Amino acid sequence: MRPPILNPLFVPVSSLTGIGPKLAKALTRLLKGNEDRDEPRIADLIFHLPSGMIDRRNRPEIASALEGVIATIKIRVDRHQPPPRGNPRVPYRVFGHDDTGELGLVFFRGQGKWLQKQLPEGEIRYVSGRVEWFNGRPTMVHPDHIVSEANLDELPLVEPVYPLTSGVSLKVLTKAISGSLQALPDLPEWIDKSVLSKEKWSSMHQALMNIHHPEDTLDISPDSVAWQRLAYDELLAGQLALALVRSRMKKSAGKPWRGDGQKQKIILDALPFSLTGAQKRSIDEILSDMSKPERMLRMLQGDVGSGKTAVALIAAVAAVEAGGQAAVMAPTEILARQHLATIGPLANKAGVSVEILTGREKGKIREDIYARLASGEIDILIGTHALFQANVEFKNLALGIVDEQHRFGVHQRLALASKGEGVDILVMTATPIPRTLVLTFFGDMDVSKLDEKPANRLPIQTNAVSIERLDELINRVQKAVANGGKVYWICPLVEDNDELPVTSVETRFASLEKLLGQNVGLVHGRMKPTEKDQAMLDFKEGRTRVLVATTVIEVGVDVPDATIMVIEHAERFGLAQLHQLRGRVGRGADKSTCLLLYKAPLGEVAEARISIMRESEDGFRIAEEDLKLRGEGEVLGTRQSGSPGFQIARMEHHAQLLEMARDDAMLILNSDPELTTERGEALRTLLYLFNKDEAVRLLRAG
Ligand code: ADP
Ligand code: MG
Repeated sequence: MRPPILNPLFVPVSSLTGIGPKLAKALTRLLKGNEDRDEPRIADLIFHLPSGMIDRRNRPEIASALEGVIATIKIRVDRHQPPPRGNPRVPYRVFGHDDTGELGLVFFRGQGKWLQKQLPEGEIRYVSGRVEWFNGRPTMVHPDHIVSEANLDELPLVEPVYPLTSGVSLKVLTKAISGSLQALPDLPEWIDKSVLSKEKWSSMHQALMNIHHPEDTLDISPDSVAWQRLAYDELLAGQLALALVRSRMKKSAGKPWRGDGQKQKIILDALPFSLTGAQKRSIDEILSDMSKPERMLRMLQGDVGSGKTAVALIAAVAAVEAGGQAAVMAPTEILARQHLATIGPLANKAGVSVEILTGREKGKIREDIYARLASGEIDILIGTHALFQANVEFKNLALGIVDEQHRFGVHQRLALASKGEGVDILVMTATPIPRTLVLTFFGDMDVSKLDEKPANRLPIQTNAVSIERLDELINRVQKAVANGGKVYWICPLVEDNDELPVTSVETRFASLEKLLGQNVGLVHGRMKPTEKDQAMLDFKEGRTRVLVATTVIEVGVDVPDATIMVIEHAERFGLAQLHQLRGRVGRGADKSTCLLLYKAPLGEVAEARISIMRESEDGFRIAEEDLKLRGEGEVLGTRQSGSPGFQIARMEHHAQLLEMARDDAMLILNSDPELTTERGEALRTLLYLFNKDEAVRLLRAG
């Protein structure tokens, strides 16, 4: 159970006064990245840290107030000038002065009564806001603050500025955050005393106060002592949770799974290629882990097209040889079906049976799969999330393979591991994740790398093309199609959107269909799974030759004879995403091209991304560059969706804290494995605070 001291932080934001359903929705979008997610809680507001600040310490006299600069000015109020009757478009003006000149205050739709109260004639007031000069006269439109001499200390001289979204103004957000801070209790200290004094860290409470009520720009820098402390809290929670998961998984003993290699050999002979050195090495590492009595917890990292599927297949077949079953989990229906199509026939040759289980298998078919799985008739089960469900029971699950890992969370990995005794886990990721990130999100996992592309691969020619040359480009696509080529055409959106000047797949599909007719296919995330699969299949089998798509095809889809990848609005995609998309071509014997279609002018970051894409095809290098350009959460494509991204820590600033947190977590579990000491109890609170409930649950399960 969550420690009661945290309760005030776990109430939904709409419990704050002034936050109604509409604002709550906007806050969900701001803090969770998506309106459809659960409403954020007070803690989410508290951890929403400033991105800048407004400095009101500048206190010039009127004549020396600079154009466009925020200033706090002391005036004596002289007169009010309401708009002429019946003409509300004219603003309400108030004039005041000091020894150097006159200042005009401008209020559109100003309420006379309220303004009379705020700015009584003849009195001294401090007004703070941006100064603008109109016709040589200094003016302030809607001052941010108006206070009397007696209330001067109510005027915040330094105000934090927060990342915002439409529907959430700075004023409203600042108020909500201050409201939240009042609910913040003094929490027990979970950081070691010696660390606190060495790093000069104050309590979490104090650190949050320092950042939300900054006195100086230094206070709101991620390098500030306060921010470091909070980042450490978040990182420690993450590392401790991972260490707990790992120690429990290791503790629940594994089993040695060792086959005789007969079936593997049949498959290796049936493959239309010979394995690369990296594939062989990875298979050796995996089989060696599986044959040991400890559980395997290994990650297979391989750039797009590096041939992870073949490695997975051999590992799965080895599990079957050893008398067990294997599960292969894919993030999408399309991918699950693709795995079935490649793995199925090969496995069958070796007498290994393969089935698929997704949301689409229903009723009798589904019951039948459950039954055959439980009886051991099915050797390899491929599927989506459906595999996690409680009624999926294996006879003897030996190996769980999770493809494209970053779409799944730690708990899903656990759920799979708990479907058998001593289940080995292999996670595969196409995003070559930098070392610091592996640590952060997956803990100390063993890593196998496919750092060698299959030998027959030709380099992909990557060009940037301005949208002004669209006609030329379409010409080229037409020619390619006439010569029997296949083309992917990616757009960022499904439908046109009035707010974004971006071509959608639907619009592009319509325009290409006019020119190319039946040859054009369409696939996007709003289509039904069956329609999506059909569209992919039509493209794969050549019934369509141009596939207009959103990024649903980003992950793992394999059409070896596609040779042109057009990415429209390339400026709107992240580097890792561009690289993933490009990896869809260059998989066959023919030379491939990737055309990055962009709309000028390019921003600095977009330009950097495009030039890195032109320079390099090395996924590991691209991942590192991506980290530099965008920060860690987005490399994994998770910043928007929250988990397992960070709210506070920024890898560019806090990488050294990550190492520290990892060591600390290890020490803690060595000396207090059940978290029962006083510090252990405090650490439980920390875990809950950062939503690591699953990890705490492991403690109870023992
Ligand atoms: P990914 O690592 O992106 O999942 P896949 O496993 O889908 O890559 O493999 C991409 C393509 O490369 C497939 O068409 C596959 O048949 C082919 N392939 C895999 N290994 C080799 C190899 N050693 N030699 C030649 N082609 C290979
Ligand atoms: Mg794959």
